Amino acid sequence: MERLTKFRQLLLEEKFDGFVVTAPASRRYLSGFTGSSGVLVINRVEAILLTDFRYLDQAAEEVEGYGFQVKEHEPQVWGTVAAEIMRLCSGGRSRWGFESEHLVEKNYRALNERMECCVLTPTEGFVGRLRRVKSAAEIAAIRRAVQITDQAWARLLPELKPGRTEKEIAALFEYFQREAGAEGTSFPTIVASGPRSALPHGGPTDKKIEAGELLVLDGGARYNGYCSDFTRTVVVGAAPTDQQRELYGLVLRAQETALAGLRAGMTGKEVDALAREVIAAAGYGERFGHGLGHSLGLQIHEPPRLAPTEETVLEPGMVCTVEPGIYLTGWGGIRIEDVVVVTEDGIENLTTSPKTLTI
Ligand code: ZN
Ligand code: ZN
Repeated sequence: MERLTKFRQLLLEEKFDGFVVTAPASRRYLSGFTGSSGVLVINRVEAILLTDFRYLDQAAEEVEGYGFQVKEHEPQVWGTVAAEIMRLCSGGRSRWGFESEHLVEKNYRALNERMECCVLTPTEGFVGRLRRVKSAAEIAAIRRAVQITDQAWARLLPELKPGRTEKEIAALFEYFQREAGAEGTSFPTIVASGPRSALPHGGPTDKKIEAGELLVLDGGARYNGYCSDFTRTVVVGAAPTDQQRELYGLVLRAQETALAGLRAGMTGKEVDALAREVIAAAGYGERFGHGLGHSLGLQIHEPPRLAPTEETVLEPGMVCTVEPGIYLTGWGGIRIEDVVVVTEDGIENLTTSPKTLTI
């Protein structure tokens, strides 16, 4: 109910009479409903979850305490959504918001052509504004997701041997996460070895790991809907070369500098600069081609980000990743990623896996 109350305050501030929520993460956040299909219709007095026959019982249970009533929609969902909106504004002219980053044009049209009196107004990141600062319960879910990933990594380490394929390693990692209690992965696991590790988002292939190669694994678990995100880089089956050691040390130093400096009151841009300056000073600035991190929660990537363009000021209760990297085409890449909670006087690092290059 507290989330709905806050959302209604936001509607009032932004002069909306009502709002149509379609994005799954927003829908879950506001109504508690975890199903894959449904639309929220919310105005200042009523909050309705429209879903189909498959989900009626589940929805009725899940919305308890969130302040929503559940209704079944017609096979053509947009007809029901429009009818509900019209009923709520009883023919008067009113302004309704929708999530422009989610409602696709075809569905927008289907809804808009049925609206007789109300004006649909696009918004961006609207529900996301409430989701930036996490509650204690949300942080607990993320903490558990991070623990699950840490446990899976600890079990995976002895399995990282030359001759295994990237796909086998990804499968084992996902299996270990499941065994530790994950609902699933928070995104498709990245395993990239040798020169492929220079691809920051290299999906696993049938390539076999060779002794002495760098291996980057980036993956995460989902727990109670909340995500973890984790990256470690290791050298498999041989002692690291001087260059591997040197660049790993540089990425680690960049990450440690950002972790030590990150605190509430800084902008995402300022935190990004902490790590970027370390890497740039060593001459690899151009090889760190992505932002330092991102917030996460019900979605794996949420605003605000830690990036050179991010002006948002960090607040206690925000949860974000810190993941500097260096990528050299043809040679390989190195990335190290932890999940941290922004606190009053710094951070709490939720990730506890060791950061050793040699295994
Ligand atoms: Zn990641
Ligand atoms: Zn990440």
